Amino acid sequence: MTAPAAPGLDTLVLASGNAGKLQELGVLLAGLPCRIVPQHALGVEDVPETGLTFVENALIKARHASAATGLPALADDSGLIVDALGGAPGLYSARYAGSPTDDAANNAKLLAALQGVPEAQRTARFYAVIVLLRHAEDPQPLIAEGTWEGRIAEAPRGSHGFGYNPVFLDPAHGLTAAEMAPEQKDRISHRARALQRLRERLSADRAG
Ligand code: IMP
Repeated sequence: MTAPAAPGLDTLVLASGNAGKLQELGVLLAGLPCRIVPQHALGVEDVPETGLTFVENALIKARHASAATGLPALADDSGLIVDALGGAPGLYSARYAGSPTDDAANNAKLLAALQGVPEAQRTARFYAVIVLLRHAEDPQPLIAEGTWEGRIAEAPRGSHGFGYNPVFLDPAHGLTAAEMAPEQKDRISHRARALQRLRERLSADRAG
């Protein structure tokens, strides 16, 4: 039996238009005792991500969706941070090779930028921040972060998921994120870790 939803959190809008993320978030949020509705189902368009940090962008997206629908909103902002590139593509991961987002072009640009960089210096991490706004003017958003440490592969491998999955290697498993079954990625990914922390915050919030 699922626990009753917290007051005011019966329905949550998912503030993302990225199909790959929506798919993952939908699975990861499945146990929450509230109805999850993607923003596009309510006619909400993507908003420009004008922040200078991941958390600002997540707040911009959640606030936009909440203001447009009058509902609580959850947003994720995420990216790939590559040490040998001074943290790029970072905040601009989705648009690294230009707009609109083109995953294959992003991966090709990344591999070209790292050409000749030896394995030991190809360290990278995925980062995700997830925010939950109870309403558009919520001054105390719930915020949770997650990271996933790995390395950039020499060539793309695998076909699961989206974005940089084919070039992001998890050294502990010897697999790229795109070679992992979705359930495997969902146990260890930056997004899964952030959501786990968000659940803990939600429980603490309800208890307190
Ligand atoms: P944004 O959060 O909408 O700005 O987009 C984040 C971008 O980071 C995505 O478009 C992907 O390119 C990349 N990214 C974030 N999380 C993942 C992931 O789990 N797998 C692959 N790429 C990701």
